[in-house]
Amino acid sequence: MFNDEIPIRIGISSCLLGEKVRFDAGHKKDLYLTNILGKYVEWIPVCPEVEVGMGVPREAIRLVGKANNPNLVGTKSGRDWTDEMKKFSQMRNKQLAEMNLSGFIFKKDSPTCGMERVRVYSQSGSPSKEGIGIFARSFIEQFPLIPVEEEGRLNDIKIRENFIERVFAYNRLLNLFSRKFSRGELVRFHTYEKLQLLSHSEKHYRELGNIVAKAKFYGTSELRERYSKIFMEALKIKTTTKKNANVLFHILGYLKNILDKFEKDAIVKIINDYQNELVPLIVPLTLIRHYIEKHNIEYIKFQTYLNPHPKELMLRNHV
Ligand code: SF4
Repeated sequence: MFNDEIPIRIGISSCLLGEKVRFDAGHKKDLYLTNILGKYVEWIPVCPEVEVGMGVPREAIRLVGKANNPNLVGTKSGRDWTDEMKKFSQMRNKQLAEMNLSGFIFKKDSPTCGMERVRVYSQSGSPSKEGIGIFARSFIEQFPLIPVEEEGRLNDIKIRENFIERVFAYNRLLNLFSRKFSRGELVRFHTYEKLQLLSHSEKHYRELGNIVAKAKFYGTSELRERYSKIFMEALKIKTTTKKNANVLFHILGYLKNILDKFEKDAIVKIINDYQNELVPLIVPLTLIRHYIEKHNIEYIKFQTYLNPHPKELMLRNHV
């Protein structure tokens, strides 16, 4: 731990925090984000439409033209905001780069903030849901590794768990790589992330292991870029009940000479219950964590897999 640790900062479409910045002077406050996740992160609000000077209230705007490069125009006046919004986005992204964000949550369906499936209108006026908001596209292109999501998709518990897991993981990467780091620190980081990575992709874990083993052959920035890219790609791959069960059995391997038969059988039974979807992941994990703490199993107790995000978020109570 360092005193200058980068906090977990998440960029967010301002209207999701309850700010009255929408075209009709309303908001889209999201109670999960404001009341629950907000206790653990620092929000960096952005309303591109207000910040670019459109005012509140304002004419509604929409995307018109080709899905991969549409224009942003007023629905009644036809005023074209495309160039201003693109320039604004570049400028705002430069500011955001200074803030070391660990994620961004966008407002769905917005022609400015929507991350996917935003309506794009043809010249004849018929919509197709193939667009990306102008600001969201610019942000994603500028920061391809930063986890992004929309508030609507976060209602899906698996998507929510995966997004928040990636946000916390990206923050750990930032804290490792934002200062001078030694190869030893990278080895330790990779060691602590082992089970977390295995619960997503063994292939990526091995690739990262190769990078760590050859660390001395890379320059600092190349090492940081290579490791970060594959690390974040790995965590984006969906975890499954089977992968988690494999990790749990892997941990049990470290306990096999310490626990008695009754204790081991109890853990196997609870992992099987998890595999059969009778109990959520938190149940076998809690039992296993108990024995790791009781017997102070050094190698396992620092694995981020055991505590990838605050337990109060209860993200593993439903997966
Ligand atoms: S969706 Fe984006 S541009 Fe629209 S009001 Fe919300 S923050 Fe502003």
